[in-house]
Parts: sequence; C-alpha cells; structure tokens
Amino acid sequence: MDGPSGSGKSSVSRGVARALGLRYLDTGAMYRAMTWWMLRQGVDLADPDAIAARCAEPAVVPGTDPDGPTIRVDDVDVAGPIRESEVTGAVSVVAAVPEVRTRLVALQREIIGEGDIVVEGRDIGTVVWPDAAVKVYLTASAEARARRRSAELTGSTVEAQQAAMARRDTLDSTRKTDPLSMAAGAVELDTTPLTLEEVIGEVLRLVKERT
Ligand code: C5P
Repeated sequence: MDGPSGSGKSSVSRGVARALGLRYLDTGAMYRAMTWWMLRQGVDLADPDAIAARCAEPAVVPGTDPDGPTIRVDDVDVAGPIRESEVTGAVSVVAAVPEVRTRLVALQREIIGEGDIVVEGRDIGTVVWPDAAVKVYLTASAEARARRRSAELTGSTVEAQQAAMARRDTLDSTRKTDPLSMAAGAVELDTTPLTLEEVIGEVLRLVKERT
C-alpha cells in the first residue's frame, strides 16, 4: 500500500490486515524512528554524509500487530515521539539518504519474507516488494488529506497542514532514490469521496479477486 501522506494508508492497511488476520508493517514509522535517533544523537541533518555514516548504528524494531503497532529504537519505545512535529519536519530529509534506505529496506524485506502481511509506505510496490500479490496506490485530494491530518492533531489548522504536507510530498516524490510513484500493476484508489469502511471494502474485494 503506497501513497502520499494523509491518503489513508495506515487506517486502511490496519483495517485490511485485521479483516484478513494478517500482520501489518508501517515502514514510515521505521524512517521516523531513524530520524528520531539522528536528532537525539545531534547528527547534522543538513549533511547527508553524516547521516549515512551513522545510519547502521540504531537497532530499529517495528512490531507487526495491526491492533497495536509498536516501534522501538535501541529498546526504547518511540511510538509517541516519532509523531511529533520535530520528527515529521525532518523525516523526508533522512529518508532521502540512499544508505538509510538500503538499511531499512533490508530490514523490511526480512519481516515481509515471513509472509502474510500488509505493508504501507512510499516504495513498497516499486522497490521493496515488487512481487506483492496485490498493490494499491492510495490518493486523495490535497485538501482532504490535510483535513484528515489536522483532525488527528490538536492545534493545527488545515492550511498549515496542507503546506507542511505539500513540502513533504515534494521531497518524497522528487528524491533521487526510490521516490514515491505508482508501481506497475498497482490499482489506484482515490479515497476523497469514500469512507474508511468503503476503502477497506474495496481493497478486500481486490485481494479476493487477485489471490
Ligand atoms: O508514512 P509516514 O508519513 O509516517 O512516513 C514518513 C516519511 O517517511 C515519509 O514522508 C517519507 O519521507 C518516508 N518514507 C519513505 N519510504 C517509505 C515510507 C516512508 O521514504 N516506504
């Protein structure tokens, strides 16, 4: 399940995993966890070489239960801190460093290789697991995505969200290594006019049809 921020990937992926009794992996949380660690270590995020030189150090361990996704870095629970604005504002810069991607993609493939899993991210269908049985590319209008995100966060206006998300989407779609793009064979689903239940229903229908 790939798509830009706020397209509904997390809620849909977790709902589908729950309905089918599958595991769930949030790859964005892994990039966020790496970013949290870099910030904590005082690594200069303006320097890609500095990020590359340190990215093999932290142990990034995501849980795969769709009912309670966890993420730990060097055995510290970082599920809360990785959603804060400091990490959100920096994550696309860290995720653009090729060495970071090589390391996290290898970890992701280990987890996915155990089978029976719904995976969400930006490059899952294109790079991480191009042989996935079902590939979905979720989209929604910029306004709908910003509205959903600001409903999740207190003290944030729709306009501020829209500007921050546009910045992150541009970085994610234009980076040199594994940019966000729709995979060959993916089904594009525009979630703007749909409820969460409708999107989950549509994905479950696709899974049934294709597997
Ligand atoms: O999905 P989420 O918004 O939590 O992802 C945070 C960031 O992690 C994205 O904006 C992107 O920069 C990066 N990311 C990525 N590749 C993935 C998942 C996330 O580059 N597969």
